[in-house]
Amino acid sequence: CDQTELLRKKLEINVKGDVIPAPVLAFSSCGLPQKLVQNMETAGYVMPTPVQMQAIPAALDGQSLLVSADTGSGKTGSFLIPIISLCAKFRQNFSNPRKPLAVVLTPTRELCIQVEDQAKVLGKGLPFKTALVVGGDPIARQLYRVQQGVELIIGTPGRLIDLLTKQDIELDDVKIFGLDEVDCMLQRGFRDQVMQIFTALSQPQLLMYSATISQDVEKIASCMASDIIIVSIGKPNR
Ligand code: ADP
Ligand code: MG
Repeated sequence: CDQTELLRKKLEINVKGDVIPAPVLAFSSCGLPQKLVQNMETAGYVMPTPVQMQAIPAALDGQSLLVSADTGSGKTGSFLIPIISLCAKFRQNFSNPRKPLAVVLTPTRELCIQVEDQAKVLGKGLPFKTALVVGGDPIARQLYRVQQGVELIIGTPGRLIDLLTKQDIELDDVKIFGLDEVDCMLQRGFRDQVMQIFTALSQPQLLMYSATISQDVEKIASCMASDIIIVSIGKPNR
C-alpha cells in the first residue's frame, strides 16, 4: 500500500475513492487479449502513460471513473483499451444478437472520427466493430451499420437521441458509457441530452475524461455513480 502511494506520488497520480487498484507499469500485466496488446505495440504503445497506468486497471475492474489529464496524455487509449477488452471477451461467450456493448459520446463529429480512428487501429482483428452516430452524414446509413451488429457506438448526443427516439437502436446490452471531453458534455447545453441517453441505459459503468474538470462537473458525475473514482494526473491542486 505504501509502495502504491509512493508510485502514485512519483507519477503524479492523484486519486479519490474506495478500493482503487494500484497503477500498472506495463500493459502486459493487465490481462488484455493478446491480439489487442499486439495492436497496441504496432501502434507504438510501448509503455502506458500515467493516466493509462491508473485508469486501465480500474476500468478493467468495472469501476466508474472521472479522470482529468493533460491534452496529449493518452486519454483516448485509457477508455478504448478497457472497452475493446470487454467487448472482445464478451463476444467470445455471447455472440448473438449482436447489440452494442458500449457507447462513447464526444461533443463534435470531428472528435468522434478521431476516436473511431484509434478504435479501428486498436481493435483490428478482434470481434470489435464500431459505428459512428454523428450529424452531417445520412442517418439511414448509420442506422444500417448499427443494425448490422457493432460493439461500440461513437457519437454526438443529438444524433444518438434521434435514433433512440425513433426506437431504431437497442441499447439494452450497453455496459460501458464513455464521455470524452466530459467537462463540456456535462455543461449546460449538452447536459440534458447526455442525461437523456444515460437514463436510457441500465446502470452502465461510466468512463469520463477531460483535460480539466470543474467542481460542478465533479458533483454531477458523483451523482451519476455513487462509487465513482476520481483520478487526476499532475501536481495536485494546480
Ligand atoms: P488526449 O489525452 O489528449 O485525449 P490522445 O489519447 O489523443 O490524447 O493521445 C495522444 C497521442 O498519443 C495519440 O496519437 C496516441 O496514439 C498516442 N498514445 C496514446 N497512448 C500512448 C502510449 N501508451 N504510448 C505511445 N503513444 C501513445
Ligand atoms: Mg482526447
